[in-house]
Amino acid sequence: MSLPQFKLLRPRSVEEAVGDLGRRVGNIRVLAGGTDLIPSMRQKLFEPEHVLDLRGIGELRGIKPQADGGVEIGALTTLRSIERSEFLRQQYPVLTEAAATVASPVLRNMGTIGGNICLDTRCLWYNQSLTWRKGCGFCIKKDGDLCHVAPGGTKCWAVFSGDTPPALLCLNAEIEIAGQAGARRIPLREFYTGDGENYRRLQPGELVTRVILPAPAADFRGVYRKLRVRGSIDYPLAGVAVAMKCSNGHVADVRIGITAVNPAPLLVEGVSELLAGKAVDQALAEAAGDLAARISKPLTTSALTPEYRREMIRVFTKRAVLAAAQVADRN
Ligand SMILES: Cc1cc2nc3c(=O)[nH]c(=O)nc-3n(C[C@H](O)[C@H](O)[C@H](O)COP(=O)(O)OP(=O)(O)OC[C@H]3O[C@@H](n4cnc5c(N)ncnc54)[C@H](O)[C@@H]3O)c2cc1C
Ligand code: SF4
Repeated sequence: MSLPQFKLLRPRSVEEAVGDLGRRVGNIRVLAGGTDLIPSMRQKLFEPEHVLDLRGIGELRGIKPQADGGVEIGALTTLRSIERSEFLRQQYPVLTEAAATVASPVLRNMGTIGGNICLDTRCLWYNQSLTWRKGCGFCIKKDGDLCHVAPGGTKCWAVFSGDTPPALLCLNAEIEIAGQAGARRIPLREFYTGDGENYRRLQPGELVTRVILPAPAADFRGVYRKLRVRGSIDYPLAGVAVAMKCSNGHVADVRIGITAVNPAPLLVEGVSELLAGKAVDQALAEAAGDLAARISKPLTTSALTPEYRREMIRVFTKRAVLAAAQVADRN
């Protein structure tokens, strides 16, 4: 599968990048590590006239601890740097754990946190070659007007399958977005739309420049669990991040994020109310699993059945809550 023809733009600053994006709105794609964009271009899912390569913009790289105890991570920072950062491992372990499970070491050396946040949604009927899609009939997400997964429907249910966003949601992360009108900062939980087709709230001409983790989130210990076909490389088919704060063996606060079972990564509501002030046991961990399974709505967007993926959200949540309680209690 060859790449379509395109013109490559290599800006040296965010200002230049935003200018390039503004001038070519609609006909341009942003490239960070390229680990998702390039395969998608080979499959002719994107055929942009211009590709804006961010890799020459030094200001977008790096993990910068802040005076208040929080940290800013440039959008071009590789997942490998995040996985290996001693500072992040100490302060925000749920993020380093999630980053370490993305794809394979080679892909983590290329793939960036910005690309992981902006990752396109995935579906068995979409992530295929042009010939395959043509043979089966084009769908709503690309070139068609039907959905193979929910026939008769008008919404795309392709799933968001990034591993770091559920961890970032647990940490109350914010992102900075740069555009023609300047920079704005929004909570990550407001970034995703819940629609598999137009899955993120990014205006044409905008790009994600930074991830900001607040200082109070550094008090949380956490773990990440994920289901995938091949443990050495694959995208998640169900993923759970748990971040927890304990005091004297009792939960002080807890957040659970799930991925790969909805068109957006989601925070599970009601878990803090369920667990706060209590010592975690099997029954409570199971109850947390039920809450997470309740908001998991996978459809047949992958080779594994929706029922199995939903059940694995329940099981992983239970295991992750028990594991997080052990780690959090030691700190
Ligand atoms: C075999 C294989 C296995 C994989 N397994 C996993 C996995 O287990 N978990 C997982 O999470 N991912 C997985 N991926 C996907 C990918 O490697 C990662 O998600 C990676 O973090 C993407 O980052 P990138 O920098 O390479 O993004 P790119 O491919 O460069 O970009 C991805 C998308 O985000 C947009 N984009 C990138 N940066 C920005 C920005 N700063 N602002 C606005 N838009 C931007 C691009 O335009 C594109 O649409 C896998 C990929 C492959 C090929
Ligand atoms: S969920 Fe439906 S519309 Fe969306 S990519 Fe899959 S088949 Fe296409």
